[in-house]
Amino acid sequence: MATAKLLVIVVALLATASSSCGAWEVNIRMPTAARAMEQAAARLLERAADDVAAPVIHALRPLVGSAGDLGRRGGVPCDSWRLAVEAYNKRDWRTVPASCEDYLGHYMLGGHYRRDSRVVVDEAVAYAEGLKLAGNGREVWVFDIDETSLSNLPYYAKHGFGTELYNSTSFKEYVLEGSAPVLPETQRLFRKLISLGIKPVFLTGRTEDQRAITVANLRRQGYSGWMNLLLKPVGFKASAVAYKSGERQKLQDAGYVIVGNIGDQWSDIIGAPEGARTFKLPDPMYYIG
Ligand SMILES: [Mg+2]
Repeated sequence: MATAKLLVIVVALLATASSSCGAWEVNIRMPTAARAMEQAAARLLERAADDVAAPVIHALRPLVGSAGDLGRRGGVPCDSWRLAVEAYNKRDWRTVPASCEDYLGHYMLGGHYRRDSRVVVDEAVAYAEGLKLAGNGREVWVFDIDETSLSNLPYYAKHGFGTELYNSTSFKEYVLEGSAPVLPETQRLFRKLISLGIKPVFLTGRTEDQRAITVANLRRQGYSGWMNLLLKPVGFKASAVAYKSGERQKLQDAGYVIVGNIGDQWSDIIGAPEGARTFKLPDPMYYIG
């Protein structure tokens, strides 16, 4: 920037000299000063050429924020960590790295999380609209609940955005408040599917004793018209993958066609039968295997 300013000044000086008497006359009348000025201009032009030749790949300058310096300032590359989580390269982790708390807070509460969710749902809606449906009332779409249909962000915001070890007691207390807000992008998909004649089925790791409050919470947040709400029996011991794939198998055995399946955990969407197509929503705050 300083180089460019100097260059402008020198060029302006030369232009002034040229306009008053012409470059040639300048050389004759003020040889020393003119030569010095020309040499200075040449040096600046060389430096400017060096700047252009520097390895600038793109003029884009990353903004400070959840996609920029924040992760680096956290002491670990939190954005890379989040990508590894979402891509299922990182598994069986128990807490978010402590130094990523700020990063995740900005990601979750800023616009980034919502934007990432919107992209997923846009794809899901486009896929659903493109389906050739039988229209026989047997086509269903499986929805997870936590961090898919309802958000527990109010709870996690008070507990370090996943940097604290999961506490089942305090989390259950939060669930029993029935105050989890809607995830609006998912609700958009939910309503679109109903309009297309595809029946939503909730399949959740929440337990049967949480049915009443879960129904109340869903209704309070504007969900209605689901075909079924499948909750885990109290005390049921199995991995999330085994439990959820088993429930999907039962749906299929009952003659339903699972045209789609959406969740925030990989354990929502792996394990046959997964559904004709699966969609993974972002969730960098916790892992369920
Ligand atoms: Mg979930």
